[in-house]
Amino acid sequence: MDIETIKTPLLSVVIPCFNEEEVIGETVKRLNAFCSELVNLDVELIFVDDGSHDRTPELLRSFAAEDSRIRLILFARNFGHQIAVTAGIDAASGDAVVLIDADLQDPPEVVHEMIAKWREGYDVVYGTRTERPGESAFKRATARGFYRLLNRLSDVPIPLDTGDFRLMSRSVVDTLNAMPERDRFVRGMVSWVGFKQIALPYKRAARFAGESKYPLRKMLRFATDGILSFSTKPLQVSVGLGMLCAALALAGILYALALRLFTNMWVEGWTALMIAVLFIGGVQLISVGILGEYVGRIYSEVKNRPLYIVQEYVGFNQAGPKMSRSPVVVYK
Ligand code: UDP
Ligand code: MG
Repeated sequence: MDIETIKTPLLSVVIPCFNEEEVIGETVKRLNAFCSELVNLDVELIFVDDGSHDRTPELLRSFAAEDSRIRLILFARNFGHQIAVTAGIDAASGDAVVLIDADLQDPPEVVHEMIAKWREGYDVVYGTRTERPGESAFKRATARGFYRLLNRLSDVPIPLDTGDFRLMSRSVVDTLNAMPERDRFVRGMVSWVGFKQIALPYKRAARFAGESKYPLRKMLRFATDGILSFSTKPLQVSVGLGMLCAALALAGILYALALRLFTNMWVEGWTALMIAVLFIGGVQLISVGILGEYVGRIYSEVKNRPLYIVQEYVGFNQAGPKMSRSPVVVYK
């Protein structure tokens, strides 16, 4: 083959950032060190600023001005981690795409092992956390519980203790890009896609600096998204509860009728009545709530708004990013 036609493969690294001014400088340094160790592989570093209100965008701009491998996607507001990751994957033009957190909890050095697996022919190499230092016992316990519950509920097996830290081949990325859904639980979607996948155990580091950008509220939202977008079992559970109530109600009705017809004790039973009313009321509310969650999701799909709004793309070449779901596109 003509030597000129052999192109060095490109690796895209996607880094979502939300208020990471304390970390980002160090992250860029570590990623630079990582890039300089790569053999026969070009790199682009795609930072997605998820509407930070600290100095993260300014810092990113100054890094991008110095380094042509750095590209920026600046969101018009905070859209959340999973959407930020999606925008990065959309824009990536690499033969493989790596997702990595900005806080250096996922060590860039592990990516070398991911690349080795990719070169062996795997399409997805996902990092499985063997240790999670620096995270609260509460976070570790809820995360453990969540992944196990999700796996029991979901129709697709989703690997345990696995975050978004992973490498994906171009085939997987193109498939993800073709999935239009809004509730983007990226790690679940990647499992659903299939192809040749392999786990890579690694030790998760503590956050380099700053605080977790996942408060309890966001964690709950994330967990609900994961479960509801990969399972309709909550609906089945609410049907089951409804049936149970109906059965109990039938027994109660027969009992009340028997008392009324065959005894003279029929004024009693207020307690049973209250219990029945409250219990059935509770179950009904829960079931309607679960139904509401699904209907709400249908509503948001039907509105069909763009998934994210990009205020500015920086450092992409003339043709712009490979793909964008944002209507307003400004290249600089
Ligand atoms: N992040 C984001 N948007 C958000 C919240 C978080 O882009 O709304 C980014 C954050 O900057 C980090 C990654 O997502 O790079 C993971 O967040 P974090 O480290 O705070 O979560 P944790 O590791 O505590 O679960
Ligand atoms: Mg983190």
